Amino acid sequence: MNPKIEKLVKQFAKLPRLGSRAAGRIVLALLQDKTGRAESLANALLDAATTIRPCPICGVLTDATSQSCEFCRDVSRANGQLCIVRDLSDVWTLEKSAVFHGRYHILGGLIFGAAGTMPDDLNISFLPQRIKNENIAEVIFALPNTVEGKTTQHYVMSVIGTDSGARFSELASGVPLGGDLDYLDDGTLSLAFGGRREL
Ligand SMILES: [Zn+2]
Repeated sequence: MNPKIEKLVKQFAKLPRLGSRAAGRIVLALLQDKTGRAESLANALLDAATTIRPCPICGVLTDATSQSCEFCRDVSRANGQLCIVRDLSDVWTLEKSAVFHGRYHILGGLIFGAAGTMPDDLNISFLPQRIKNENIAEVIFALPNTVEGKTTQHYVMSVIGTDSGARFSELASGVPLGGDLDYLDDGTLSLAFGGRREL
């Protein structure tokens, strides 16, 4: 294989859920495309990578020029509910299913997860203050139903503490054991959200 193509395939193969065969097909499709798709993709990627950063409040990726993201700016979402998720793809999953209309907080990982994440790596130092500032009445945990998810949930609950006044809940057991949110269809996710139980 041409070294330039090989380099590209290796980069794509490192992406989540892409093996080297899928990566090869993508690279081939891009290089053989006559409509300039490879160039537009490269430009869009470079533009996003250099101008997008995490919202300082919730962690959702947003334009570096704005003080906060579209969720934190949206006053209709200031309904006292805060949903704790692992990463941005969980926000997208929940938004697609339209089961939740409060605010989000992205932890950025799970304790002892695949990346060796430690409690200090999580986006939680500002969380207790945030719960006060935004008058949060309910903190909803929408973390994966795994040992790492539960460990993280208990840790975050201990950081928030009981004197915050907020109650805690987690998604109903419709979330399969070991399952990520984005494996759920909208109906199952909606049931899990609607049937969430208080902790
Ligand atoms: Zn935000």
